[in-house]
Amino acid sequence: MLSRFSLCRFSVRRLSLPAILLVCCLPLAARGELRVVTDFEGGSAKVLALDPISRTIRIAPAGQAERGWPCWWYLRVEGLRRDETLTLEVQPSEALLVGPGKNRGKPLVPAWALPTRASFSTDGKSWRQTEPGRALEAGMVYSFTADAETLWIAWGPPFTPADSANLVRSLAKACRGAEEFELCKSNEGRPCPALRLKDGDRRDEERPAIWLQARQHAWESGSSWVARGLGEWLAGDDPAARRLRETCEITLVPIMDIDSTATGNGGKEALPQDHNRDWTDKPHHAEVAAAQKELLRYSAEKRLALFIDLHNPGPTDRQPFFYRCPDETLAEIGVRNVDRFLTICRGELAGPLALAPEPRTSGAGYDPLWKQMSKNWVAANAPPHAVSLTLETAWNTPDSSTDGYRTVGAQLGMAIEKYLRADPTR
Ligand SMILES: [Zn+2]
Repeated sequence: MLSRFSLCRFSVRRLSLPAILLVCCLPLAARGELRVVTDFEGGSAKVLALDPISRTIRIAPAGQAERGWPCWWYLRVEGLRRDETLTLEVQPSEALLVGPGKNRGKPLVPAWALPTRASFSTDGKSWRQTEPGRALEAGMVYSFTADAETLWIAWGPPFTPADSANLVRSLAKACRGAEEFELCKSNEGRPCPALRLKDGDRRDEERPAIWLQARQHAWESGSSWVARGLGEWLAGDDPAARRLRETCEITLVPIMDIDSTATGNGGKEALPQDHNRDWTDKPHHAEVAAAQKELLRYSAEKRLALFIDLHNPGPTDRQPFFYRCPDETLAEIGVRNVDRFLTICRGELAGPLALAPEPRTSGAGYDPLWKQMSKNWVAANAPPHAVSLTLETAWNTPDSSTDGYRTVGAQLGMAIEKYLRADPTR
């Protein structure tokens, strides 16, 4: 181990006096001093302890309880030495929940903050999973062999507002008929990037409208990676994707809760309003208001055919699954179309993250505010034939990687195309 003292002693033997002074005055971080950085988009970690000898860092998520469940953590560790082992111990946040849920006044159940595998990266762009962590009584320990001086480490693969902007820009550039647009400015003034795909000569009024959105809950970063895979497929070379672009009008919003994502907060049960309980006549969040306006326009034109809201579920859910609206809230054709779409999805979402055989229903028994959830609001305001669903993609599995999530997105795209080959209004 090269301590500050040994570095200077080494220098005395081999370096000139000016060089000795230069080396001894180098910033500590450059000499293997561990440092935790979180002042970047999406960053969140409260450092509880840092032991430079054992190379151990202990953190907790730093999110504010009023800005949603404090389960998300994302940090950069600098000053690593090649091939050394870094130990990261994550403890759950002690913050007491303040939102409207049944656990108000208690800390969040720790499992939400402690994935079996953490995500890490040497460039902040390509993400890998660690080996399974070691569970403590209250916490989880992850080990890293440093193959660079800097490691980005996170709860799951991060996907930030900048990633969303880059994604829609690059897809719009590469694909004819695709254009990026700003859905709105968030309540805190940040742009909310979105993508629209519509190619060929077909008249707008003949095009079924498809609305796909992710990340109403900011901690659910995997949902944005599913959206990325979906966007890449929709804008890609597959003849089925081209056919879909030529016949339909498709909107994709990779991140809905831009502000909580940017600030490293959880979003779920945030005050004054959870994004996915904000679907009322008077929404608090600008993104919800902007999405509603577009969706109501498509509905008025009788074009809205499909709405899918992408989320991540609980820590023990090992397979993706859909939430559907209660059948009694839908017209007969609506129930029939949901059944048909789910049958196609069971064939297409074949793995490695394979769709669970049965959907779940989120109605009055799920949450007293069920009517204010996106898919239920959309179903209540959409033409009777429209399909409105939530897809929950499992995050706590070895396949919940960027590739695993993107594969789910591409498979969902294929399912959508198959479903819309038949006229959904009949
Ligand atoms: Zn969610």
